[in-house]
Amino acid sequence: PAGPPATANVAFYVNSPNVRYSDSAIEADYRYQNTKISHDATGRMVAEPVDTQYQFRTETTVPKVGIMLVGWGGNNGSTVTASILANRMGTTWHTKEGLQKPNYYGSVVLSSTLKLGVRADNGQDVFIPFHDVLPMIHPNDLVIGGWDINGANIADAMERAQVLDYDLQRQLKDQLAGMVPLPSIYYPDYIAANQNERANNVIPGADKWAHLEHIRKDIRQFKADSHLDKVIVLWTANTERFSSILPGVNDTASNLLQAVKDSHAEVSPSTIFALASIAEGAPFINGSPQNTFVPGVIAYAEQQGVYIGGDDFKSGQTKVKSVITDFLVNAGIKPLAITSYNHLGNNDGYNLSAPQQFRSKEISKSNVVDDMVYANHILYPRKKKSKMASSASAAPNGAAEDIEHPDHVVVIKYVPAVGDSKRALDEYYSEIFMGGRNTISLYNTCEDSLLASPLIIDLVLITELMTRISYRVVEQPPADANGAADQQYQPFHSVLSVLSYMLKAPLVPPNTPVVNALSKQRTAMENIFRACVGLAPQNDMLLEHKAF
Ligand code: NAD
Repeated sequence: PAGPPATANVAFYVNSPNVRYSDSAIEADYRYQNTKISHDATGRMVAEPVDTQYQFRTETTVPKVGIMLVGWGGNNGSTVTASILANRMGTTWHTKEGLQKPNYYGSVVLSSTLKLGVRADNGQDVFIPFHDVLPMIHPNDLVIGGWDINGANIADAMERAQVLDYDLQRQLKDQLAGMVPLPSIYYPDYIAANQNERANNVIPGADKWAHLEHIRKDIRQFKADSHLDKVIVLWTANTERFSSILPGVNDTASNLLQAVKDSHAEVSPSTIFALASIAEGAPFINGSPQNTFVPGVIAYAEQQGVYIGGDDFKSGQTKVKSVITDFLVNAGIKPLAITSYNHLGNNDGYNLSAPQQFRSKEISKSNVVDDMVYANHILYPRKKKSKMASSASAAPNGAAEDIEHPDHVVVIKYVPAVGDSKRALDEYYSEIFMGGRNTISLYNTCEDSLLASPLIIDLVLITELMTRISYRVVEQPPADANGAADQQYQPFHSVLSVLSYMLKAPLVPPNTPVVNALSKQRTAMENIFRACVGLAPQNDMLLEHKAF
């Protein structure tokens, strides 16, 4: 096979008439196989295989990308910045265990692999770094900037965070001292009152439209100053309280923009950052639990064709929960109660010790088992249909359906002494065979920001990749490389549900199912990227090893 041009930026190539390479793009024909279910006249269920022919196009030129972190001086912001710097420079440091090298552990993209296929000669599995499935940016090449309501430079912020080893801090300090967060928007009502003394770096005034313009200008300036092709903005600032959803205020894009002009009280700082990013064509990701993405923001992103993703990094307890619950329910075991305690002593914990901010976190942690419960009507039978949908009984796509649900409680306490080292205690109390009971108890302890930082990196890398992928649906496979297609290539929906793996309460396009189960989320990412190079979805059938 001729293969792609020598200049093509690819780690491997696919030898198939369905996959075409040029200097700057990969185009793949892909048959998406699904199963549609209906009922016949006698009420029997009918399953019908349906194929849809897609074409994917991926731009392979990797752009120069900058990220702007809102809350840059926080534990996550300073940790991710210092860690990328250490990786870029290859800084090593001494710990009591010996010499430590920087790495990207915890990043799916940088530190995990996927099975590409099996060896032609002996049938053994072949794995490649996840990062190589399609051309992606490398975090070492990211330009980092951002805002914080606290004016500490990133060296001081890193020291305050008490996350990284002293010997590493010592070596990074000089470079980080030159990084100073831009002043930010501070509406005291949105975060805990205990954060007030931190707010010494704020954009003056109370005119919310002027604030939006200010942030837009910051993004443009950052892009120009660093000669960037793209900017991605990510919220890793304090958890805000929820905004009230008010008809006429934040329900549509135009109402929301008007509400900003009116400096309406229910427009949060994070919503202004989201609007400013969208207006500048910069994807916006929300790493905290609050409802930044009020309906007007989603509508504005759709209008402008800009990607958004959220909510709330899925770093610790919830990640484990989205594995254990999936395991239990798919094993035919019925969780009756899932009870979770956390305590932490960092500034995030301090902010979450206020009731309204805790409430945002409680909401984002609460729906994580819904899709798994919904998927098993043997363990959780549908009750009689009721018109009233409560959050505990809604189907994952928001449909009103009354189903039994395990008790699910989340508690968070602020314990300063443990600092960034969060402790999570979970109890899974389940019904097993013949009325028996099973209790699984977990104790999980880890530096919170060392879990969140690689998620920030993955969110940015995958969001950037998604900006280079487009697709179209074709009725018939095109006759040749220039075959007529029915549609122009188009981007995906503005709400990037493919980011769900990294997020606690995944935002999905309106009226589409939310998937929380971790392995499904990862498989979806992997298979979408495989589809972009014309490869069949990953399956674990291993039929070639099962024949006589
Ligand atoms: P942090 O308190 O250390 O950092 C937040 C930073 O945001 C602070 O420096 C603060 O000054 C700044 N800030 C507050 N309001 C701001 C505004 N309007 N504009 C700009 N800056 C502002 O917290 P953290 O531990 O870095 O966590 C950040 C966020 O990520 C929190 O909301 C937290 O709930 C969320 N989160 C963290 C994890 C994790 O660390 N594992 C997991 C999920 C979600």
